[in-house]
Amino acid sequence: MNKKEFSRETLCVQAGWTPKKGEPRVLPVYQSTTFKYETSEQMGKLFDLEESGYFYTRLQNPTNDAVAAKITALEGGVAGMLTSSGQAASFYSIFNICSSGDHFISASAIYGGTYNLFAVTLKKLGIEVTFVDQDADEAEIAKAFRPNTRALFAETIANPGLAVLDIEKFARIAHGQGVPLIIDNTFATPVNCRPFEWGADIVIHSTTKYMDGHATAVGGAIVDSGNFDWDKYADKFPGLTTPDESYHGLTYTKAFGKGAFITKATVQLMRDLGAIQSPQNAFLLNIGLETLHLRVPRHCENALEVAGFLAKDERVAWVHYCGLKGDKYYELGQKYLPDGSCGVLTFGLKGGRDVSVRFMDSLKLVAIVTHVADARSCVLHPASHTHRQLSGEQLVSAGVQPDLIRFSVGIENVNDIITDIKQALDSISN
Ligand code: PLP
Repeated sequence: MNKKEFSRETLCVQAGWTPKKGEPRVLPVYQSTTFKYETSEQMGKLFDLEESGYFYTRLQNPTNDAVAAKITALEGGVAGMLTSSGQAASFYSIFNICSSGDHFISASAIYGGTYNLFAVTLKKLGIEVTFVDQDADEAEIAKAFRPNTRALFAETIANPGLAVLDIEKFARIAHGQGVPLIIDNTFATPVNCRPFEWGADIVIHSTTKYMDGHATAVGGAIVDSGNFDWDKYADKFPGLTTPDESYHGLTYTKAFGKGAFITKATVQLMRDLGAIQSPQNAFLLNIGLETLHLRVPRHCENALEVAGFLAKDERVAWVHYCGLKGDKYYELGQKYLPDGSCGVLTFGLKGGRDVSVRFMDSLKLVAIVTHVADARSCVLHPASHTHRQLSGEQLVSAGVQPDLIRFSVGIENVNDIITDIKQALDSISN
């Protein structure tokens, strides 16, 4: 079941698991670490990658693969995999093509955890990152490339700065330099944007967010468009284009063609690092995905109303939401996210950081949680929470003002959400 045959709504509900006669209608949880074979030779062939099949859930599991296939169909890719978290997906997407001595470029306006992963942890592995302003012009961004640059990375809608990426511009820059464009599509989800249609090569997700949608399961996903020609730039990507000694000299691009990137990440990185999603979490994620196409538009409608309410209140200093006319990213939003962006908006209150914090403490229906993008409305103060490890300068380049409140608008009745905001504003104004 793929994108060409069925619409997005149908893929959300049915892609990935097509039961045969007498099989369960609902995707089952294959709660098994291991899988049975009849001869030693059969098992040996799996270890040599001569045949495909399940043998150990640290590498692959049928429940996970069905859900990965659904996300792959939604994104319009050729192959996909689930990871234990969004962080693992970001890490694998880079580490699958970068090793010690390599360099990559990332937009600076990204999730704080990804920033730390790139700037601090990958550096310890000898992989260097340069952060760029995604709104700079092409020539300026191209200056950051070096002979050892292996990828360009950015978020469709940056968390929490909410900058909308000019994906076509980034794809042109990446391809002009012979490297893939990797996009974190967590906030937009494939319901609102499919980055492959704009030239991206690899998409990653924190499925913990809208895809699960109910804050029940941490998870991640990686999807390959199959469009990047690794062999054309073989010297840059030896991990994919030269023999892997740990599989008796097999070369991924020769053996697996368009499936090379995901196969390598599965049989090499999962084998060695093991950041697999649990089948139980994949099962929960699949239930979430079945209503993604219904929930996302409701999040967007509610967020637009909340943004409009805040923009009109004189106690509010500023609001960022690309659906609001006049927002810095309105035009890019209309181009890449014509059906809506996401349920997350940011704003600051007159009086600065302390007032923002007092406002959050006064909310009753809306909870303070380290999360975003689930059915329940929630708030967070990134400078005090998710981004607290960043310096003042890093906060600015990540698009995080000290007074910034990140508001994740849920799918409750929007009037109840606005009533809660009103009472919190009133209580701090008195
Ligand atoms: N990417 C984005 C845009 C995120 O917002 C997050 C988490 O908030 C991540 C990646 C990391 O995902 P996870 O928390 O599932 O590891």
